[in-house]
Amino acid sequence: MTKRLIIRNGRFAQLRPDAAKSTLQGYMVVEDDRIAFIGEELPSEYETAEAEYLDGSRLFFMPGLVNTHGHAAMTLLRGYGDDMVLQQWLQEKMWPMEAKFTDQDVYAGTALAVLEMLKTGTTTFVDMYDHMNEVATVCEQSGIRASLMRGAIGLCSEEVQQQKLNEAVLFAKDWNHAADGRITTMLAPHAPYTCPPAFIEKFVQAAHDLDLMLHTHMSETAAEVEQNVTDYGLRPVTHLEKLGFFSRPSYVAHAVHLTDEEIEVLAKYNVGVSHNPASNLKLASGIARVTDLLKANVNVSIGTDGAASNNNLDMFDEMRLTALIHKGVSGDPTAVPAAEAMRIATVNGAKMIQLQDVGLLEAGMKADFIAINIDQPHLLPHTDLVSHMVYAATGRDVAHVFVDGKQVVKDGHCITMDEERVRYDASQAFEGLLKR
Ligand SMILES: [Zn+2]
Repeated sequence: MTKRLIIRNGRFAQLRPDAAKSTLQGYMVVEDDRIAFIGEELPSEYETAEAEYLDGSRLFFMPGLVNTHGHAAMTLLRGYGDDMVLQQWLQEKMWPMEAKFTDQDVYAGTALAVLEMLKTGTTTFVDMYDHMNEVATVCEQSGIRASLMRGAIGLCSEEVQQQKLNEAVLFAKDWNHAADGRITTMLAPHAPYTCPPAFIEKFVQAAHDLDLMLHTHMSETAAEVEQNVTDYGLRPVTHLEKLGFFSRPSYVAHAVHLTDEEIEVLAKYNVGVSHNPASNLKLASGIARVTDLLKANVNVSIGTDGAASNNNLDMFDEMRLTALIHKGVSGDPTAVPAAEAMRIATVNGAKMIQLQDVGLLEAGMKADFIAINIDQPHLLPHTDLVSHMVYAATGRDVAHVFVDGKQVVKDGHCITMDEERVRYDASQAFEGLLKR
């Protein structure tokens, strides 16, 4: 039997650039995992239909946020090393601790991350890490949607490289389309500066063989770009182009340091950029050329990156930063307007990871949406609710979250995870890491 939810008297974000109004007031009907109807008047066929009802009069509904770059289990290292230079931070703080991570640690850290993400309105996230079976298990249990990949650093023997590649391939095969289709997989060599060219080429070949997307870190710092030129005589974009990376559907994280020519190459191959504004600011990596990327029709989405370099996973923060910093650097207050920032954080992210039916509140789309409590002092008066979401709201204002038609957060509480247990296990895992 069809499971039906009817939302009455709601206000719904309409994010298509050609939408007549940014907010539609009326009804939304969800049937099983999809939006069946959205409009001002409820069609008569639904008036007598069996359904659950949700009163939307104090809520604003928008598509769930899509976090397109991160390392979930790094929540365990939140606040463990701050205010440091990227390479020093990685080599002295992050990598030694991460080397100690067990399956249990990754499970505990990922559960903490997913709990934080769901409660702050993220319905889909991308994760590039190790011990990925644990990450996938958390996704399966919590109800979140995810695109997952085993990230591989190639600064090791060829034998260990091959082992990592095998792991990445096995994981990608095992979990693609798992959890009722909520999990998809990709392949991800970590970055050009951590992976020798031959290793990257093996990933490209595997992505062809398995018909998977590729994702990697690229041009996060100026030093890394210079190193690429010293080592290979090429900047990272041309380097990856030459290795065949862009012959696959692919996107890169960061892309802070780009020339005009590099932007053209990304546009030519339809390679998207996951912008990570908080992480880039915190590590002083620089500010990505988002307005230029958008002008060149490069798809731009947003990621939080790991919680150790952010230090939260609240996509509302990232949306606001994206809308603010590009005005600041360009001197143009019309740069990245609110609706554009919301598109970048939702539908652009879904497109980035090939989820064509996620990211908009429209009939036929997947029912991945969130409801924000707008009956609060910082969200009144109700002049422009899309603007409020970008400039005034935080993830803590999220009341309800639905993924694939199922409610996962109700009145601010996650109903698919044991919140107390998740918090306890994560704290214990961190204490354990300190002792080992
Ligand atoms: Zn990253």
